[in-house]
Amino acid sequence: MALTTHPFFSPSKTPTAITTISEFPQNPKTLILQKCKTTKDLNQVHAHLIKTRLLHSPLIAENLLESAAIILPDAMDYALSVFRQLDKPDSAAYNVMIRGFIYKKSNHEAILLFREMSESLVQPDEFTFPSVLKACSKLGAQSEGEQIHARIIKSGLVSDGYIENTLIHMYASSGDLEVARKVFDKMSHRHVMSWNSMLAGYAKNELWDEVVKLFRKMLELGCEFDEVTMISVLPACGRVADLELALETGKWVHFYIKKKKMKLTVTLGTALIDFYSKCGLVESSIEVFNKMSMRNVFSWTALIQGLASNGQGKKALEYFKLMKQNNVVPNDVTFIGVLSACSHAGLVDEGRKYFLSMSNDYNIEPRIEHYGCMVDIFGRAGLIEEAYEFIQNMPIQPNAVVWRTLLASCRVHKKVEIGEESLKNIIKLDQPHSGDYILLSKLYSSIGRDDDALRVRNQMKENGKRKAPGCSLIELDGVMYEFFAEDKGNPNSMEIYNATEDMMRKIKSAGYVPNTADARLDAEEDYHKEASVSHHSEKLAIAYGLIKTAPGTTIRISKNLRVCTDCHNATKIISKVFKREIVVRDRNRFHHFKEGSCSCNDYW
Ligand code: ZN
Ligand code: ZN
Repeated sequence: MALTTHPFFSPSKTPTAITTISEFPQNPKTLILQKCKTTKDLNQVHAHLIKTRLLHSPLIAENLLESAAIILPDAMDYALSVFRQLDKPDSAAYNVMIRGFIYKKSNHEAILLFREMSESLVQPDEFTFPSVLKACSKLGAQSEGEQIHARIIKSGLVSDGYIENTLIHMYASSGDLEVARKVFDKMSHRHVMSWNSMLAGYAKNELWDEVVKLFRKMLELGCEFDEVTMISVLPACGRVADLELALETGKWVHFYIKKKKMKLTVTLGTALIDFYSKCGLVESSIEVFNKMSMRNVFSWTALIQGLASNGQGKKALEYFKLMKQNNVVPNDVTFIGVLSACSHAGLVDEGRKYFLSMSNDYNIEPRIEHYGCMVDIFGRAGLIEEAYEFIQNMPIQPNAVVWRTLLASCRVHKKVEIGEESLKNIIKLDQPHSGDYILLSKLYSSIGRDDDALRVRNQMKENGKRKAPGCSLIELDGVMYEFFAEDKGNPNSMEIYNATEDMMRKIKSAGYVPNTADARLDAEEDYHKEASVSHHSEKLAIAYGLIKTAPGTTIRISKNLRVCTDCHNATKIISKVFKREIVVRDRNRFHHFKEGSCSCNDYW
């Protein structure tokens, strides 16, 4: 059967060129695959096959299909017309076509062809299933995927490693991690790809603890891993609550890269920069950045953001200038880093300038996050009215986060009216958090309006908001210790309380004065005010860290809430009196306490 009607086939061009295929058809496969690098080649080969009547050989037809469907970028229609003229296409022919459709991103066609294959009673094999499952995950066609899974079980191919991997990938990428994990756990032999699919699934769903846990299992079993593994694991290390575990795991990954002399690709380097800065080790981020032979906008952005969130605003801006000198064009995320750097460094005019430069020089429309950064810049600098005005003139609707930022600065700068206005707007736009009420209540009590403070507090309770209990984590020798405010449940509580009392005594003689305004509001029970504030979870954790680690060791704490004013003040003095660096990661940012001051410059 001739195929002369096909648009790719133009018989007038063909006959002369075919003479170069001298050994044809002894080794048709190599020849077709070697020859057909372009559609033009395909035309020539095709014409020759017609002329020599070789097209009717199934082997040759299949090789032609493979060239057209998979190797050539734009010959899928041609492949389909060849396929349609096969007498009885077998599973191999279907497989080539299904793979071809997936390569050409026509996943839907791949699934349709698979259905057709089933209807024609052609048995799918161990190559068909992985391809069609891949199409399902690309389309998010989960129920189709589940039906195929059932067929795989029936066909007895369920313990084929490659099929298992694609099943894990399909379930994990659609968010059904339980089923993915079931398939994973049943595997008798796990390839690095199986681990990677599982890890990527957890990472995509932000189950960071699961990522780290599974990766550590991988290490325990001595499994080899690759760059793809690390790209899932490093972001998780920057985000799990347990800071010590995160650091240990992430550092191990870095060590492995060095040991195996792996290439520090842009993606890997950027992931390392992000990891180190999210664990508060921004110096290591800079080191990695300097070692990278190639950097892109994401690498620069990760470093700028990392420096800004670790309180090194000025340095972040230096790198931003350097980035521009290197002709790397910043993107919208870079500007979030730049603006928050201005905020940390207290650079209001610079902030304004960069904000305008976004749209003027780079054609980037500011998003709500950028507006939020500007409100933070004004708020930090005490320009509360200006911040308020800025929000009112925003061309897009402000969200609760923007108002929350303003409320927090009203609390610091004791601006009651705008603070009240901010809470009203938060309530209008969002479910208010307990923290919002607490901010306003603290604002009242800081100016002596205790009745109002109590009223807001009661309003919070009426609305069913309870302050989440403060909780701090510290890891010592591989064991994680969790502390809650007024925590008496800990088996070592005598030891902890003695250490805390001792620590508080020492910092008092160095000038610490307890801030009972915070205590009054934070204490849920009727404890003595001063006792209560000295038993906030991070104080207990720091005191425990002090007695359990060698002098001079850095103490790392992570906390679920914002650090309160009193703990912040106390920690600064502790860092000086005990000559310790103390790193606290709270809900919003890092605090690096050293020699009596904090990297956040007392604004958080
Ligand atoms: Zn506190
Ligand atoms: Zn701080």
